[in-house]
This record gives sequence, structure tokens and C-alpha cells, in this order.
Amino acid sequence: MENFDFKNFGCNVFDDEVMRQLLPKDTYKALKHTIDEGAELDSSVAGIVANAMKVWAMENGATHYTHWFQPLTGGTAEKHDSFLSFDKNGHPITEFSGKTLIKGEPDASSFPNGGLRQTCEARGYTAWDCTSPAFLKSDGTGGVTLCIPTVFLSYTGVALDKKTPLLRSEQAINREAKRILHLFGEDDVKKVYSTVGAEQEYFLINLEDFNQRKDLIFTERTLFGAPAPKGQELDDHYFGVLKERVAAFMKELDAELWKLGIYSKTKHNEVAPCQHEMAPIFATVNVANDNNQLTMELMKTVARRHGFACLLHEKPFAGINGSGKHDNWALSTDTGINLFEPGDTPMDNYRFLLFLCATIEAVDNHADLLRASAASAGNDHRLGANEAPPSIISIFVGDDLQQVLTAIETGRGVKEFRSKMDLGVSILPKLSKDATDRNRTSPFAFTGNKFEFRMVGSAQSIAGPNTVLNTIVAESLANIADRLEGAKDLNKEVMAIVKNIIKKHKRIIFNGNGYSGEWVEEAAKRGLPNLPTSVDAFPAYTTAKSVAMFERFGVYSKEELNARLEVKMEKYAKKINIEALTMIEMAKRDILPAVLKAKDKLAAMVNHVTAAGLEPKVEREMLATYASYVAKLYRAIGNLEKATTKAERIQNVEKQAKEFCNKVIPLMNDLRKYADEMEKITDRSLWPFPAYSDILFY
Ligand code: ADP
Ligand code: MG
Repeated sequence: MENFDFKNFGCNVFDDEVMRQLLPKDTYKALKHTIDEGAELDSSVAGIVANAMKVWAMENGATHYTHWFQPLTGGTAEKHDSFLSFDKNGHPITEFSGKTLIKGEPDASSFPNGGLRQTCEARGYTAWDCTSPAFLKSDGTGGVTLCIPTVFLSYTGVALDKKTPLLRSEQAINREAKRILHLFGEDDVKKVYSTVGAEQEYFLINLEDFNQRKDLIFTERTLFGAPAPKGQELDDHYFGVLKERVAAFMKELDAELWKLGIYSKTKHNEVAPCQHEMAPIFATVNVANDNNQLTMELMKTVARRHGFACLLHEKPFAGINGSGKHDNWALSTDTGINLFEPGDTPMDNYRFLLFLCATIEAVDNHADLLRASAASAGNDHRLGANEAPPSIISIFVGDDLQQVLTAIETGRGVKEFRSKMDLGVSILPKLSKDATDRNRTSPFAFTGNKFEFRMVGSAQSIAGPNTVLNTIVAESLANIADRLEGAKDLNKEVMAIVKNIIKKHKRIIFNGNGYSGEWVEEAAKRGLPNLPTSVDAFPAYTTAKSVAMFERFGVYSKEELNARLEVKMEKYAKKINIEALTMIEMAKRDILPAVLKAKDKLAAMVNHVTAAGLEPKVEREMLATYASYVAKLYRAIGNLEKATTKAERIQNVEKQAKEFCNKVIPLMNDLRKYADEMEKITDRSLWPFPAYSDILFY
């Protein structure tokens, strides 16, 4: 494969440059007005844009277009229509109208909707989101489709997707942040948006191994598997030299991403064997979210071309690190200011302190919701399981910033800090990234000029977590703006607000080791929510507090939240059900036959020794031990089967999810324990699928 020519960066994107080139000046201006300021789009403008898109797409090989959207499954959806049409005389022509660009009507009935459909009809609408550029996708066989990012709504305008609430949360944060900035006289700011860089972790294993394991095929994680003699204890994989095959994969992945205008920046080996990471340069949250979906998709497709399977599951292998998706989040103005940049001047510091404290307040007020936004069956294996962040939300600010906050809170040092300010000298020490980024155990860390939300799971859509982040911070900013707008002395009021927030919400700040047992106790004393599993966490979406906030900012209606809770619970229950069924099948049809064969061999050995006139003492002992394991395994299968059947029959999804969580999972763990013990003592040639030592060390 040739090296990528950066001249081709974004060649498959209908981006600003292409639009400027291909659209008449007026049309371009009108469209930009819509993209930048949310102005309504004229239908005549849409017609011209549609035609330009079609011509451009066809010149680049496209025959089809699709409204690309993000249903509540967490992935993406597309239905391809060709540009083909007929004229009066029945001759084939190509057509793509403004109407088709703006609106689609896919049948919504087969997407999860959490009960929204009964109230809103089956019909769904997709509507063009022009704030994320259209792009071309090839299917690997030469077929090219023009993809138009869209939102997905019901007939009555209820959001059936992940993008709509994200866009609504963007509006909320934009509105509230601007109120604050305008108080500071920053009237030139037309827009505030959140910026996001999502670091994507993943595993690459041999496709051959993948195909031999039903658990990987059905659940993307190994449900059985004794640990290999070597794991990650030597720290020899992290940042290690890339294997050639992996390097080839990464090279092609980068090229594919760059063609789609995705700023893939960093690639490296991660902590666990076979684990890697790709980090992009950050973008506005809506684009970052679309880009991350494409990244996950491309990782899977490109992996196959290289004989790999790419695993995005949060915990493909027990005993070694799982995968997360650090969600780096900040707020930026269209004038280029990062609102979390501590800055050098007192004026900047006031603004910085306000936005920092707004975030602290928001995270403390809605810790349960933020936790819920990162919850999934897969991510339950990471959070709180002695790796990655714990399931308790806290904020790391680092020592330097902590000193400033303490000084403000106690009033001690404030005099000095005031007089320093009067001299025009920064009240904040320069926060070097190194000084703040060392704590890797915090779920929500301030890293110099952005926050890093580390709970998000590798397979998850980042839309949900960022919708929550935007909205909770918008709420704090709104409350602050309410107070400031009525203040006589702005600076005095800012300090009063900041002091008040630190006093009231400092319990959420924790700069120590988040993995320690003491922290769990300490957090309980502080009254911080500890929601160990997804089923504990999900209900945070529909508490009175959450509903009131989301409705106040027009992000989710109560109905939409209830639907999301239902979909999340249902998805959780289904995932665990599939895992349990896969385990049962593998145990009965693969493992049991193998261990019975091994047991027969041992029995034959006993007979053999006896026939030779000797006392088969050791052989009998081996057989007895082995047979007792087989019996335990057999019983464990039966227990799991019973529990799974019982859980499957429960009608109420919330109750069902709880049953799977509390009753089925422990029995899955039981079954695995016996199977893994047997794997360790069974003839390698008899074991029915590749072992950890084969898969992880190729
Ligand atoms: P690390 O987390 O390994 O220390 P970096 O801090 O360099 O790495 O960056 C991690 C991610 O944070 C990258 O995706 C980067 O683009 C993103 N990032 C940097 N600045 C911002 C910002 N202002 N807003 C959102 N994301 C950002
Ligand atoms: Mg990071």
C-alpha cells in the first residue's frame, strides 16, 4: 500500500471547500448561515445543494445515497436508494431533489423505540443534519454511496435516535454559555460549542481464532478462558513496537479515516496484549460523534482485510485490561477561545473559574446521571471492577488547582490573591499538562484545559455521555447567569458564586487513588452515589431531578426519557441473555463432550494399569478429581439454564434486567469458574476452542 498523500485528506467529504467550489455564492452563503447559526434552510437552496451533492458524488463513483442515522441501538443505520429515475419517455435519468436531501421516511418499526411507537405511529422521519458534512462510503466491492447525516424522529417529532438530543444539548450549552460571556462583554462570540476528542481503544486478534469461538462471534467477549501464563504484568505491550501486521492495519485505517476527513492523530499499543488505541484530534461534538461511529465501523472492516477481527467490547478477555473510550470534553467559542483554558490574565481567570465551578457543580448535582450515561452490560466489567475508573463519579483537579480552590473557599490567601490580581498577575499558577494529568484512576479528570471523562466504554456511542455533559453544565451555567444578570458588582458576585460552589460541592473533588478500597468508604461518607451495575445506574435517567432538567433545556421530554430507560434495560437484558445462552451452548456442545473424552481416557488408563496387574493409585486419584469437576460443570450448566429460562419469562423489562444482573450473572461466573479450571487440566489437543495463550500471543 502506498503512503497516504495528505493532499487527499477529506477527499470523500462534501466539506466546506467542496461546497465553496461547487455551490453558487448565494447558495453557499445561505447554507453556511444555516450551518453556523441554525437559520432555517430555504427549499430552493436545498435543491441546488442536492444537485451539487449528486454531481460530486457521481463523479466520485456513487450510484446510491442514504440517510445515515443513529438509532437507539447505539450503532448506525442506512438504507440505500439509487439516484436512478425515469423521464417522461421512460428513459433513465438521475435525480436527487432538495426534498430527498432534507427528508426521508424509513420504516421505523424495527428499531428499538421504548414504547414511543404506540403513541407516535410506526412511521419515522430522517431529517438532514447539515452541521455534519455528507460523505462517501465505499462498500469494499467498488460500490459507493453518498451518506447524508440525519436525525431520526417520529411523526410527532419525538426523537428516536441519539443525534437529536445531542444537537439539542448543543443548543442549550451554546445559549447558556453565551449569557455568561456576554456579561463579561464578550459580545463578539456568536457561538459556543463543545469540543470532543474520543480516544478509541480496541483489540485485534486473528480472524481464525475469532471464528472458532462462538462466544466471540455472538457476544464479542470470551465467556470462557483460563488465563495465559503471561498477561500484561511485564508492561511490555504498552507503547511497544508495533507488529508488522498490526502496523499494516493501522496504516490502512489511517488512510481510510483521513479520506473521510477524520483527524486520526495517534496510534499505539495499549496495556493489554493485542490491545491498541487510536486518538483523533478533537472536533465539535456532533462531528466527533459521527466520526467515532465511522471509526468503529472502519476498524472492523479494515481488520478483516488484514485477517484480524477487531473487538470493541469493553472486556473481551478476563484478567487483563478492558477497553474504554476516554471522552475529552471542553467548551470553545467561535472566536477560538477554549473556556477551560486557565489563561494568564485575571479577566480570563474569572471566566475560567466560573466555567470550572459550573462543571464541578453540574457533576456533583448529576453524578448519578453521568454514571448512567456510561453504563452498559459490557462496561460493567470495567467500572468498579478494579481497573479503569471506579463506578463512583468524582473529579480530579490536581494539586495546583486544588490550592486555588481551597484558597478561595477558606478566604485564606484570598487577600494575597486579590492584590496579585490587582497587579494584573495571574492568580493561577500555569497549569502544565503534566501536573494535572498524572492521576489515571479518576473517572472525570481536569487535564489542563479540558475534562477527560474516562468512564465511557469502547463500544458505546459517545452521543449519550456528551448529551448529559452538555446539559448538566448548561444547567449550572444558566443558574449562574441568572444570579450574575441581577448583580450590582459583577466581579464580587462571581467570587461569591465560586466560593459558594466550592463549599457546597467540594465533596465531588477527589485527587487520590480512585481504585483503592478506602475511596469507596470515603465516597460513601461524602454521600456520593455508588452505582456498581448498569441496572443500578440506568434509573438515573428518569428521576424527577433529571426529567426536570432535561425538559427545562429542551433536550429530552419525559416520554423520551422513559423510552430510553426502557431501551437500555431491554438491551441489557438481551445482551446477558445472549451471553448466558451462548455459554450454555458452548458448555453442552463443546466443553462437555471434550471433558467426557478426557475423562474416558483417564478411565481407560485405570483399566489399563489394573489389567497389567498393578494398583492404579495415581490414575484413580486423577480420575476422581477430574470426574468431580465434570460433575460440577454439569450441575453448573443446569443451574444456569434454569435461571436463564426463569429470567426470560419475566415481562417487565426493568425486573427482567435486574433478574439477569442479580441471578443469572453469578451463575454464569460459576459455570465459567469450573470450565476454566478444567481447561487448565485438560489435554490441549482435546480443548474445543483456542485458548487465551493462543489468541493473545500470536
Ligand atoms: P492523553 O489523554 O493521552 O494525555 P492528549 O491530552 O494529548 O492525550 O489528548 C487526548 C485527546 O484529547 C485527543 O483526542 C485530543 O484531541 C483531545 N483534546 C485536546 N484538547 C481538547 C479540547 N480542547 N477539547 C476536546 N478534546 C481535546
Ligand atoms: Mg487520555
